[in-house]
Amino acid sequence: SLAKRNAVVTGSTSGIGLAVVRALAKEGVNVVLNGFGDAAEIEKERAAIETEFGVTAIYDGADMTKPEEIAAMIQNAEAKLGSVDILVNNAGIQFVSPIEDFPIEKWNQIIAIDLSSAFHTIRAATPGMKKRRWGRIINTASAHSLVASPFKAAYVAAKHGIAGLNKVVALELATYGVTANCISPGYVWTPLVEKQIPDTMKARNLTREQVINDVLLQAQPTKEFVTVDQIAALVLFLCSDAAAQITGSNISIDGGWTAG
Ligand code: NAD
Repeated sequence: SLAKRNAVVTGSTSGIGLAVVRALAKEGVNVVLNGFGDAAEIEKERAAIETEFGVTAIYDGADMTKPEEIAAMIQNAEAKLGSVDILVNNAGIQFVSPIEDFPIEKWNQIIAIDLSSAFHTIRAATPGMKKRRWGRIINTASAHSLVASPFKAAYVAAKHGIAGLNKVVALELATYGVTANCISPGYVWTPLVEKQIPDTMKARNLTREQVINDVLLQAQPTKEFVTVDQIAALVLFLCSDAAAQITGSNISIDGGWTAG
């Protein structure tokens, strides 16, 4: 059982990360929530996790572009909870532009949040995991860690990068009871995706159904979104003893996208 384990999930104030934090808490895992958002709403979510699931939930607002804040987040988690046993690197942003116009600051920001933040969390959490001889490192990559799309230079580079980092970490920690794996979703139904629909309807003069099927789900053979709960279930499986020999893997959950 995962009860009494301690987890840090970056970018968990919304979408996939929030579903992962809640799923872990439901299994009795103490959690560190991280990410941006309205302070009152985050506090409401944090308190709800504690009362619903009877675990400790801490909020840490560390900015994933700041290496010192990231290291401090892991140290604080170890100090307050006793250990970091499960680390889910999930914070991520996207930016879409032709490469010749791609803003340099957007490139740097995406590489920092979507790739380098995972290096900094893993670097800080690894000594404790090695010492305790148990750990689960899970990186939310993307179908874009395996295939590319035009206009997503930074995102595709960062996600391919995290797939490489994941393999290195898996090899280094293989004899310590610590696994490292990537989860690679296709299109996931999150508030972020949902909010794009009205604008895309207007911009392209399409109906809601056309936007969903011809734009968003164009690359996804099942023509269905992945749900955040399906991703959270995969995280729980990767944390289980049944998954102890799964390491260095990049597991697709993309409705068949990368099969084509
Ligand atoms: P989301 O926007 O709902 O959540 C992103 C989270 O990251 C939020 O909590 C946000 O506050 C946090 N964040 C952003 N910048 C941060 C920073 N500088 N420091 C700390 N936290 C920061 O998005 P989501 O769809 O849940 O995405 C989560 C992860 O899943 C990302 O890595 C994304 O690339 C990946 N992903 C999403 C999809 C999808 O279709 N939604 C598909 C494949 C991969």
